[in-house]
Amino acid sequence: MITLSKSNPSQGIWLTEKERPSCGHNDVVIRVLKTAICGTDMHIYHWDNWAQATIPLGMTVGHEFVGVIEEIGQEVEGFKIGDRVSGEGHITCGHCRNCRAGRRHLCRKTQGVGVNRPGAFAQYLAIPASNAFKIPADISDDLASIFDPFGNATHTALSFDLVGEDVLITGAGPIGSMAAAIAKHVGARHVVITDVNDYRLELAKALGATRTVNVTRESLPEVMAEIGMTEGFDVGLEMSGNGQAFQSMLSSMNHGGKIALLGIPEQDTRIDWNQVIFKGLTIKGIYGREMYETWYKMVAMLQSGLNIRPIITHQFDIQDFQQGFDTMASGASGKVILNWS
Ligand code: NAD
Ligand code: ZN
Repeated sequence: MITLSKSNPSQGIWLTEKERPSCGHNDVVIRVLKTAICGTDMHIYHWDNWAQATIPLGMTVGHEFVGVIEEIGQEVEGFKIGDRVSGEGHITCGHCRNCRAGRRHLCRKTQGVGVNRPGAFAQYLAIPASNAFKIPADISDDLASIFDPFGNATHTALSFDLVGEDVLITGAGPIGSMAAAIAKHVGARHVVITDVNDYRLELAKALGATRTVNVTRESLPEVMAEIGMTEGFDVGLEMSGNGQAFQSMLSSMNHGGKIALLGIPEQDTRIDWNQVIFKGLTIKGIYGREMYETWYKMVAMLQSGLNIRPIITHQFDIQDFQQGFDTMASGASGKVILNWS
C-alpha cells in the first residue's frame, strides 16, 4: 500500500510503499478515504527538535482521517465491514486508574497514531476497534476527516459553561476558529478572537466570531471598551501557544474567570501569576479529546446546526501531497485535506 512516511531525517515527507497492516484480534483495518494535515504533522514534516526526539525514522505519519472498515478482528463486536468511521488517535492502556475510571483522556501511557505507532497517511490503517467511531450518514466525509482537531476545539470550548458568557479566544488557527463556532452555537454573547494573521481572522469571522482582533494593529482593551465590555471576559480559550497571547488573556479576564489551555507554549514561558491569584482564575489544561463524550458532542452539535464547513479551505489528491504541506506551511489555509481514494 502507499503511505506518507518520515523516511529521511530532514525536512519533508515521502510517498513510500509498505505492507498493508494485519488485523489484530481486537482491531479493525480501515480503508482510508480522506486525511487532514495537523500541526503535529507539520512539526514532523519540518523535523524540528520535538520531532527528532519523538518520531522513529520510517514512521507512517497522520492521525486525522475518515475511512471504511475493511477487516474486523475476531474478538470485535459492534462494527461491521463497510461501516464508515473516523477514530480516536490516542491509544490508551486500559489498565491505569484513569482508564479504569472511564477518564481515558487522562491515561498516563497514551500512544499516538502517526507519532508512536503507524499512522493514517496510508491506504490502510489498523487501530483497536474501541478507538473507531461510527459516522452517521448525514455527516460528510470531509467533516468526518477533521473530527480529531474539531474534537480538540470541542473538548476545550465545552470545558466551561458558555451560555450568555463573554468568551476570549487567543489564536485563530483551525482549532481556535472552530472553537469560535462552537462558542457561538452554544450561546455565548461576545466571542472575541485574536491572531496576528488576517487570513485566519477572516476564517474565524466566517465561522461565527463576533469580533476579530489583529493584535499587531489593535489593542484588546480598546476593543473591549468599544463593544461595551466593562469588566472582563468570563471564559478564555488559549489556542495559540503564544506566551504573549496568554498573558494578554490573563490581563483581560474578569475576576473569577475560567481559562482552558490547549495551545502548547514554548518552554519557560513566563506569565504574571498575580493575575491568576488576585483574580481568582481557574485554569484547566486540555489534552486531546474526552473518550468518547467529545465525539458524541461533535456529532450532536453538527446535527443541531453547527456549521464548521468553512474551516476546510483546501483539498488535494494524495499524489499532490507536497502542495498540501506547502499550503499548510504558508499560514494561508484552514484545514487541508488529502484524498486517498
Ligand atoms: P495553529 O498553529 O494553526 O494556530 C495557532 C494560531 O495562533 C496561528 O493562527 C497563529 O498565527 C496564532 N498566533 C500566533 N501568535 C499569536 C498572538 N500573539 N496572539 C494571537 N494569536 C497568535 O494551531 P492549531 O492547529 O489551530 O492548534 C492550536 C494550538 O493548540 C497549537 O499551539 C497546537 O500546538 C495546540 N494543540 C494542542 C493539543 C492538545 O491536545 N493540547 C492538540 C492539538 C493542538
Ligand atoms: Zn491508561
